[in-house]
Amino acid sequence: MIKSCSDTEEFLADFLDRSPANAVPPEKARRPEYAGIRFFDAPIAGCAAADDAVLRSLARNEAAGIDLKQPEEWLPGAKSVISFFLPFTERIRSDNAASPVPTDLWQQGRITGQECLVETVRALAEKLRADGHEAVTPVGDSLLTVYMPKPDAPPAPAYTSNWSERHIAYAAGLGTFGLSRGLITKKGTAGRFASVVTTLAVEPTPRAYTGLTDWCTMCGACAKRCPSGAIDKMAGKSNETCNAYLKSTRSEDGVFYGCGQCQCGVPCESTAPGMG
Ligand code: SF4
Ligand code: SF4
Repeated sequence: MIKSCSDTEEFLADFLDRSPANAVPPEKARRPEYAGIRFFDAPIAGCAAADDAVLRSLARNEAAGIDLKQPEEWLPGAKSVISFFLPFTERIRSDNAASPVPTDLWQQGRITGQECLVETVRALAEKLRADGHEAVTPVGDSLLTVYMPKPDAPPAPAYTSNWSERHIAYAAGLGTFGLSRGLITKKGTAGRFASVVTTLAVEPTPRAYTGLTDWCTMCGACAKRCPSGAIDKMAGKSNETCNAYLKSTRSEDGVFYGCGQCQCGVPCESTAPGMG
C-alpha cells in the first residue's frame, strides 16, 4: 500500500524494472541496434499538499506562460499531488552528450519513452485507486489543454498548458529551475516528469530551497551546448528560438524530434551542482 513518497519511489522503481515499456521495442526501433535499450533509471518522487501555498502561487504567471488548473479542479477532494522524475539512462544521455546536435537515440528516448512515462503514471494512479483512493493523471486526461501559439500572437503572454509538470515538481520538493529552464533534481535534469493528483494525504516533501533557481550554478555550460543559440547567460532562454530549432529536428517520417543538448554533457545532467 502506498502511504508516502518513499513507497511511491519503490512502486515506480519496481514497475520500471518489470515493464516491457521501459525499453525500445524492436518494432519501433529507429535503428535495429536500439532495440532493447532501456529508457529510464530508478525514479525519485516528491509530494505537495493540494493547498500548498507555493503550488498556488505558481499557478498563474502570465510572463512565463503559466495558467495551471488547481488540484481540486482536476479532482474534487484532492489532498496531494505526487510528482516524479524518471532520469534517462546513461546510455541515452551519453549518446546525446557526445554529439553537438541531437541524436537519433535521444529522440527515440524522448518520443517512444513518452509511452513508458504515460504507462508509468497510469500504473501509479491505478495502484492508488486499488488502495482505495481517487487519483487523476493530468497527462493523458481530457482536461489537459496544450495551447498552440497562433501565428500572429505576440511573444507573450502565451499560456502553453494548464498543467506544468516542472512547476509541480518544484512545488513537490524535487528541484529548482536552471538557466536552460529545465528542472534540476538531485538526479539531474535529463529525464521526464509526471504527476498524479490524489485524495490520499501524503506527507509533503520538504523543499530544500527557497529560490526558483537555487540549484543552478549559472555556469553557462547549457548555453555553450545549445546548437541554436537559444540560451544566453544574461537574457535567459528564448522559447521561440528553441521551438524553431526543435521543428527543424523532425525526422522525415514526422515521428521523431527533440534536442536535449542543454541537458546532456552539462554539470546538471545527472546531479544538482548547486544543491550544496
Ligand atoms: S548547465 Fe549550468 S547554467 Fe545551465 S542549467 Fe545546468 S547548472 Fe545551470
Ligand atoms: S532544447 Fe536544444 S535548442 Fe532548445 S534550448 Fe535546449 S539545447 Fe537549445
